[in-house]
Amino acid sequence: VTPFTLAERIAESPNVPVLSRNWERPESWSLASYRADNGYHGLRAALDLPPDEVIEIVKNSGLRGRGGAGFPVGMKWSFIPQGDGPGKPHYLVVNADESEPGTCKDMPLMLASPHTLIEGMIIASYAIRANLAFIYVRGEVASVIARLRDAVAQAYEAGLLGRNILGSSFDLDLVVHAGAGAYICGEETALLDSLEGRRGQPRLRPPFPAVAGLYASPTVVNNVESIASVPAILRNSADWFRQMGTEKSPGFTLYSLSGHVANPGQYEAPLGITLRELLDLAGGMRAGHRLKFWTPGGSSTPLFAADHLDVPLDYEGVAEAGSMLGTKALQLFDETTCVVRAVLRWSEFYKHESCGKCTPCREGTYWLVQLMERLEAGQGRPGDLDKLLDVADSIVGKAFCALGDAAGAPITSSLSLFRDEYLEHARLGHCPFDPAASVTYG
Ligand code: NAD
Repeated sequence: VTPFTLAERIAESPNVPVLSRNWERPESWSLASYRADNGYHGLRAALDLPPDEVIEIVKNSGLRGRGGAGFPVGMKWSFIPQGDGPGKPHYLVVNADESEPGTCKDMPLMLASPHTLIEGMIIASYAIRANLAFIYVRGEVASVIARLRDAVAQAYEAGLLGRNILGSSFDLDLVVHAGAGAYICGEETALLDSLEGRRGQPRLRPPFPAVAGLYASPTVVNNVESIASVPAILRNSADWFRQMGTEKSPGFTLYSLSGHVANPGQYEAPLGITLRELLDLAGGMRAGHRLKFWTPGGSSTPLFAADHLDVPLDYEGVAEAGSMLGTKALQLFDETTCVVRAVLRWSEFYKHESCGKCTPCREGTYWLVQLMERLEAGQGRPGDLDKLLDVADSIVGKAFCALGDAAGAPITSSLSLFRDEYLEHARLGHCPFDPAASVTYG
């Protein structure tokens, strides 16, 4: 039985926080600070095992991808062909192109503890027999890039990267690659195209990167938090990891709370915690206000309303309630927020970031913005809501990659939860919240 109250969950998860436990230490990003708290002990444990066994441990832990989709990490690693001999390169690519509106967990993780990621990357590369690994990081975040490059240099100096790592005869080179600020390059195959020097646009899948990825070679693409979760599993065991969270969504994770919350920030907790419990930790909504709507996992996941406070925030719980756990980016909005305006902002984002490769997304996101602008300004015409749903329907499930589905999610969910608010705009002829702030339409 999954424990339900926060006290029970914490009692079941005595070891949380794991990822963020060093973040308050002085110079938490330095190799010395990381090593003072069991840093690189997971790597030592891994290098004593054959690579297949490392994969088995990660599989048994039940760790699921933290980039949004929740695909089992150990299973993804096991798709990489073993025994295909020397001369057949495998690659590890860490997706650090975090760009989803509201999503802000990987950047603080890399700033505060870059060695957790590097240690996880060495373990993962050893497991999949890769000798070259990349971190593809957003080009705009210069401070994170500098921090990563310093940490990588420290790791080389300490013999943790390069030839014969810790005397194991395993070699690994690690490259920090700065992207150029396109949201689409967070889509794994667009990321690979960009890394190869081409314009970042998604490839047709299958083949998945595990079969034909970087330079058409078997490649594991994992999110930052997924890889950063690996050292603790190797240090402590798969069973230790499974003590936390739920049966199908084991372990701990970073929940990012933003918006109208008293204390926004990163909250590491076992999977399956609820927003009600997280709000207890975060001091509740800002004083004098109440929750109106929220995203469970960034702007690409269907919205929840205030009565979803007790949904278990794990992959199954959120899906059963009609949304997706996604990147666990909880954006909280109080009663002063116009849901139509919030959705319009996200629609503008998706229109701007659509790569243009496929027609449903390129054309559809344009029309979504046209309709949403009109509706938000109170100039909606009869039939506009049906038209909006029709355009969303022409994108969702029909676009080349997940960006199209993402653009449709806030539209359809806000219409099903807050249809009256859309209608109120048209009835008044302006936004009921702050007409002066309406987006200029016409
Ligand atoms: P997906 O479910 O198609 O794939 C997830 C992962 O599993 C991929 O790495 C894929 O290669 C692998 N995979 C799936 N089936 C496979 C198979 N049969 N064989 C081998 N590998 C397989 O999801 P996606 O389209 O890659 O990503 C969508 C997710 O991205 C959404 O859930 C969204 O929340 C998230 N997202 C995250 C951000 C961010 O900033 N972190 C931004 C946008 C979207």
